[in-house]
Amino acid sequence: AFEPRPDVPADPVDALHAVFGFNAFRGVQDQVVARVLDRRSTLAVMPTGAGKSLTYQLPAVMLEGTCVVVSPLIALMHDQLRSARANGIRAATLTSVDTDREATLAKFRAGALDLLYVAPERASQPHFRELLSRARISLFAIDEAHCVSEWGHDFRPDYRLLRPLMDAFAEVPRLALTATADRHTRADILEQLGIPADGLIVAGFDRPNIRYAITPRDNPLRQLKQIMAENPGPGIVYAPTRAQVERLAEQLGAQGRRVLPYHAGLAADVRAANQAAFVASEDMVMVATVAFGMGIDKPDVRFVAHAALPKSIEGYYQETGRAGRDGDPSVAVLLWGADDFVRARQRLGELDESRIVGERARLDALAGLVETAGCRRAVLLRHFGEDPPASCGNCDNCLSPPSSTDATELARKLLSAVYRTGQSYGFGHLEKVLTGVSDERVLQRGHDQLSVFGIVTAEDAPLLRALSRALQARGSLIANEHGGLALGGDARAILKGEASVDVILPAKVERGRGR
Ligand code: ADP
Ligand code: ZN
Repeated sequence: AFEPRPDVPADPVDALHAVFGFNAFRGVQDQVVARVLDRRSTLAVMPTGAGKSLTYQLPAVMLEGTCVVVSPLIALMHDQLRSARANGIRAATLTSVDTDREATLAKFRAGALDLLYVAPERASQPHFRELLSRARISLFAIDEAHCVSEWGHDFRPDYRLLRPLMDAFAEVPRLALTATADRHTRADILEQLGIPADGLIVAGFDRPNIRYAITPRDNPLRQLKQIMAENPGPGIVYAPTRAQVERLAEQLGAQGRRVLPYHAGLAADVRAANQAAFVASEDMVMVATVAFGMGIDKPDVRFVAHAALPKSIEGYYQETGRAGRDGDPSVAVLLWGADDFVRARQRLGELDESRIVGERARLDALAGLVETAGCRRAVLLRHFGEDPPASCGNCDNCLSPPSSTDATELARKLLSAVYRTGQSYGFGHLEKVLTGVSDERVLQRGHDQLSVFGIVTAEDAPLLRALSRALQARGSLIANEHGGLALGGDARAILKGEASVDVILPAKVERGRGR
């Protein structure tokens, strides 16, 4: 069932040239294609723009039969369809909006399609399985494969139906593709889709020409104006809500530079016009919600600024990744406030039980990125499973290291307070105990009798909150759904004096200490 097509060059590079006109594979494309041609199931994790589609489209053309592509969105499918057809690939979609169903089915059965795009819910339909069994399938390609995982940020229950379908065609190899998968999600995708662990191929995620900077938001308008002044080239400012997009676009546009808004609430023709103006411009700024940027081809974006915390590290990476596609120096600046985290934690409480754990882990990872005193790029790349050097020389923390202080002793005090109060109290209560505030609750529980009561000095007290966040970011403290803190990770090692803890001095403390 798995045969090369006689009319296409058997060598992948020759076929690449013949079908796409490209001279060479990029990054890990050749590894992925080689595995697929070897009939081995694979999970390819490649950043946006790395050329994922080619890794199934090329084998689809090289092999007899049809590659069935599962894709979560009709709009995505139609984009793919257009570009595949533009390369002379015989492709079709099978969706609820297609009018050429009968023709598509006839071609599919006759083996005259290289690619058939379908939505995941089709997998559960018995007549689809029957249809597949009467055709010749060369490959299952699962696009946006993170949708199969509850750990992923975009879980689609229908993706779980793919496994039983594919198991019915066990001889057909599987190629799962995603741009966004942390370690947890990857392991889950492998398991959910029945791909062996040695089938994981991860492309390099580093974007060395992007300089990352993450800074507290004190005066966003002034901060954004400064970013614009320092970066005269095209830029994107991401804001969380439509109202904020409108307001910021107006305020930033008052400077004379062309600034336009973009969000899903604008009329389609306005959106299209603003997008076209941005793509054509050499100095325009687009203020937008995350609805902006998907599929936009503008290589010379010089800066991406976030006016608030993004949803996840994946989102941050994807959004900042729109800067500097041409390889020239570019910047990514994130302005964040503690209130961003408070709101995000509140949203956690509104979620389904099944999603809370994954979303909390995502938020903790983001906190780790924001609060690190170390290299931002290292945190990002480690998140994507790479093993980067400790310092990159091209992020805010590498360029001007923040002052941090050894807080190991204080951490031991905080952790013992957590332990001695029974690992269920929130930060506020622990702070009172440690600083010796005997309010009603402290007295009622007898916490004023503990050895940790009042052991933190007035000088150290202002560090406690940052320390608690840092310990949560590294997993030494774990918050339950009510904010109660328990020991986790390396907490015991810290308590035993086997691990140390550094904490970035909050600005106020730094001034107070006169450092
Ligand atoms: P992804 O899905 O990973 O975001 P795409 O498949 O859309 O990326 O590819 C991004 C762009 O790179 C496309 O314009 C594609 O034609 C181009 N591309 C992919 N592979 C190659 C290659 N080997 N050589 C040159 N261009 C390539
Ligand atoms: Zn760095």
